[in-house]
Amino acid sequence: MVALTQNRKVVVLGSTGSIGVSTLDLFEQAGVAVEILALTAGRNVAKLAEQALRWRPRVAVIDDETGLPELRERLAGSGIEARAGAAAVTEAAAMGADWVMSAIVGAAGLAPTLAAARTGAVIALANKESLVCAGPALLRIAREAGGSVIPVDSEHSAIFQVLQRDCIDRVSRLILTASGGPFRTWDKAAMALATPEQAVAHPNWSMGAKISVDSATMMNKGLEMIEASYLFDTPQERIDVVIHPQSVIHSLVEYTDGSTLAQMGPPDMRSPISCAFSWPQRLSWPAQRLDLAAYGQLTFEEPDLDRFPSIAIAREALRLGGGAPAAMNAANEVAVAAFLDRQIGFLDIAGAVAGTLERMNGLGNLADNDADALDSAMMTDASARRIAAEVVGQVRRSN
Ligand code: NDP
Ligand code: MG
Repeated sequence: MVALTQNRKVVVLGSTGSIGVSTLDLFEQAGVAVEILALTAGRNVAKLAEQALRWRPRVAVIDDETGLPELRERLAGSGIEARAGAAAVTEAAAMGADWVMSAIVGAAGLAPTLAAARTGAVIALANKESLVCAGPALLRIAREAGGSVIPVDSEHSAIFQVLQRDCIDRVSRLILTASGGPFRTWDKAAMALATPEQAVAHPNWSMGAKISVDSATMMNKGLEMIEASYLFDTPQERIDVVIHPQSVIHSLVEYTDGSTLAQMGPPDMRSPISCAFSWPQRLSWPAQRLDLAAYGQLTFEEPDLDRFPSIAIAREALRLGGGAPAAMNAANEVAVAAFLDRQIGFLDIAGAVAGTLERMNGLGNLADNDADALDSAMMTDASARRIAAEVVGQVRRSN
């Protein structure tokens, strides 16, 4: 374990996104001693260059190769190496950091996260899609390399914090809380007409566009159920979801003696990032404190599976096993992009995901897939994307 006062070598994958920015902000707020080896981004050259000039990494990597000339220009004379392309992102992940923040969005985060896992680093995992695509492989590779995966997703961070390691066999249920998203109280007719702007306007959390839409469909909770099942080695029958609109209780663990432990805090992703950075120690930074009396009451509801079928789709994907979670994830990425592009309606997202899974299962493309291998996860991802694009095309034509 590296003491908190020791200088730590760090890589931030997805530094220009919501989680990436929160990570760098936490470093600043907590005044931690870090040497940043690499910052990586997708397309936002200006922000990456600005972060690089502030944090002085050895290398700044932009996934989009057309951004390289501008990145070079902005970093000219700084001594920071500018690189581009997916392979360079993956190489940055494997530079030998003590701690890697995995905060790329989508399955694009899988290869870099696996590369980081192979180095034995502590991986602060926000990129839930990489666990959904290849959870068992990722966890095994990290363990075998002598590293660890610490969840950043607030629900999983909560469970991670209240899990009593010495009586893991006495856990009876994991309870994931969900805010319910912006359409929690909307009827189906209104949801059918929901716009991308309405879907990304999350009531409690400020996040990237894709996860905001996932929260609105509640596919985010579906992905999180799969994430929890792999991280905490728990079958889906023992993972429940409860709607908790205030997002104060971040999740709970119920034990066989009927005692249930919860983790609480104001909705601020810097809190689980802080936990992942310092575990099993604690950082000290000016975090907002929880004022329960100001909330007055905390409320809970059952999820409505008719309006939010994604939770049931994710359970089915876990039941099918093999490549089904990776296929579900890929189909969801395609469908969310089509919705954000105004090609399909809001309710069509879950329909397209279910349709893709059904077609792939019918073709026998799921069952014999070995979810443990990166190659097979990527093959499943690619064929699910092809089929999902066809399904989305059919939905468009029939709308
Ligand atoms: P954002 O969309 O805000 O940021 C995504 C980051 O990934 C950006 O830095 C983006 O670069 C980069 N990126 C996008 N595509 C690629 C690619 N193909 N290759 C390399 N880099 C890429 O997302 P969030 O920060 O909201 O979410 C990141 C991850 O964390 C997701 O998996 C999400 O589910 C998870 N998460 C997020 C939470 C939140 O509160 N935001 C909460 C819990 C989990 P650029 O912007 O430069 O294009
Ligand atoms: Mg979450």
